[in-house]
Amino acid sequence: MSSLALLPQPQSDIRVRLGRILLVEDEVLIRESIALGLAEEGFDMLVAEDGLTALDMLGGTATASRTARPDIDLVILDLMLPGMNGLDLCRLLRHQSINTPILILSAKGTEADRVLGLETGADDYLTKPFGMRELTARCRALLRRQQAKTSTPEEKVLQFEDITLHPEECRVFLRGEEVSLSPKEFRILELFMEQPRRVWSRDQIIDQIWGHDFMGDNKTVDVHIRWIREKLEIDPSHPTYLKTVRGFGYRLG
Ligand code: CA
Repeated sequence: MSSLALLPQPQSDIRVRLGRILLVEDEVLIRESIALGLAEEGFDMLVAEDGLTALDMLGGTATASRTARPDIDLVILDLMLPGMNGLDLCRLLRHQSINTPILILSAKGTEADRVLGLETGADDYLTKPFGMRELTARCRALLRRQQAKTSTPEEKVLQFEDITLHPEECRVFLRGEEVSLSPKEFRILELFMEQPRRVWSRDQIIDQIWGHDFMGDNKTVDVHIRWIREKLEIDPSHPTYLKTVRGFGYRLG
């Protein structure tokens, strides 16, 4: 059996970081074979022989006054450990708001055991004996789920020439200066910026912005377009952004 000192190291710094896993397992042969197998898959492995060491490595304390929290992405946790057992460690981590994903490994495979593990705050449960391929697949799945949770989607920003529109913030900038638009003006401009150069008829704009049940005159559109031009165009009577397409309607650009 290889010792941990001989675990393969990442080939280079540009290698994609799959994640750092803390394996908590007291039986040395199992610990080393799992650590070696996952390191070969490209994971960065840390190991702990008991629950208190793991708690310390995760930045938790028995008195809930922790300081630093190292960069551990996933915990693989054996249940039968000397001293603090796996379930108690799991409970304590969650109680201290340490929400690192936890995959429980256990020889206890009854449904009640699995339910107890998951209710204690674990994210997944694998019964011994298991294959390395299954363990690797579950680690990857948990890390993917965690990444999806922590990465916030980037806000979609619409850009047309010098105009920038932030749909979620409802803000418009012209050459970097914020422009104050009414809600209707904003929604009309957003409609145009979503499909630059598309021609929109007055009726289509009414449908999109006011809805089918709008009772007013479609001259309302012309009025709003004029107001937007006054705010965006250097010369509103010779617009360069919101142009009139005679006989059809309006177009951006
Ligand atoms: Ca054990």
